[in-house]
Amino acid sequence: MKSEDFIKLDETYGAHNYHPLPVVISRAEGVKVWDPEGREYFDFLSAYSAVNQGHRHPKIIKAVMDQCQKVTLTSRAFHNDKMGLFLKKLCEFTGFEAALPMNTGAEAVETALKAARRWGAEKKGVPNGKQEIICVEDNFHGRTIAVITMSNDPDSLVNYGPYVPGFVRVAYGDTDAIEKAITPNTVAVILEPIQGEAGVRVPPEGYLTKIRSICTKHNVLMILDEVQTGFCRTGKRFAWQHENARPDIMCLGKALGGGVMPVSAIVADHKVMDVFTPGTHGSTFGGNPLASAVAIAALEVLEEEKLDENAERLGKIFREEVSKIPCKKVVEVRGKGLLNAVVFEKGFEAWNVCVALKDAGLLAKQTHGNIIRFAPPLVITEKELREAIAIIAKVFSTIK
Ligand SMILES: *Cc1c(COP(=O)(O)O)cnc(C)c1O
Repeated sequence: MKSEDFIKLDETYGAHNYHPLPVVISRAEGVKVWDPEGREYFDFLSAYSAVNQGHRHPKIIKAVMDQCQKVTLTSRAFHNDKMGLFLKKLCEFTGFEAALPMNTGAEAVETALKAARRWGAEKKGVPNGKQEIICVEDNFHGRTIAVITMSNDPDSLVNYGPYVPGFVRVAYGDTDAIEKAITPNTVAVILEPIQGEAGVRVPPEGYLTKIRSICTKHNVLMILDEVQTGFCRTGKRFAWQHENARPDIMCLGKALGGGVMPVSAIVADHKVMDVFTPGTHGSTFGGNPLASAVAIAALEVLEEEKLDENAERLGKIFREEVSKIPCKKVVEVRGKGLLNAVVFEKGFEAWNVCVALKDAGLLAKQTHGNIIRFAPPLVITEKELREAIAIIAKVFSTIK
């Protein structure tokens, strides 16, 4: 079967909830992917940062193979001999006291929202049903009903009502707006330290530090959604470390699964995590032994290969070199580490640029029409990065 046949199958039998680039991937290794015809591409999306360790990292694949020979799923009705090791590793990696494993990023966010509401009722004394959570404009936290309630993106929202009460949305980048929105019933502020889906929007310097101090002052939990920015993507293990603004709850996902399977979690200290008691939250697959084995290997790879340092160093080269490419339509090159975006003029349709990049051997996807995110696996070498930049330069030079 050819690429066009696979695309036809997706269109015929699938729901049409995505608009993918017309490319089919049938094989992958490291920073490269191949289509059924054998054409080679750089992967500059990394499954929205879920493949930070590169495709099919040998250490992670070995962990999968080994664990498959032992036990893969137990549910939480019983203990297994992998989950505890995973939670310990995750706590050490993040510097938090406790972790609660789930599967997808949206579930990690839901878990954080539930933790905050329960903490509000039980520790802060907010009457149950009155808890308020502050979120920010243009956020992306996933696709569940509660999570889309926080969104202001019409595509995510329209005709999914009734929405969930208890959320207040304020402008991104504005700490005064957050402080003004706080009431005695506010239990948490939730945000992404860098907004990924919004087009890699980096907040003004000091933003996170200021929010940290506002939250502390008003006894409100600070929740950071590091599902996309976490695990070395921005040049630090977590994006909050750029400002040393340690949250009370951190939502994790994507690269925690090492590019193999969905693994997510929240981490927090006991004073928050202890609001959960038996039966009050859970997931059949959360913390399963296969996911735990994968996540341990995924974390070890980030550490052993110092992917934070690689992202920091190569990110600088990326922004410097791409900023030099002459192209009248580009208004900004921005990002941190290897989470970067090129912003074109308002109204510019970047889809055609993504198709041209694909034809030239590099896969990237536009967000909000005029922004292209460039986020390769963090195992990319400088030589590979420069090859990729040459492809980008060639394609940008043809934009009129
Ligand atoms: C991708 C993403 C999510 C949702 O993760 P899923 O695994 O798709 O549910 C949540 N928050 C952020 C910041 C994300 O980028």
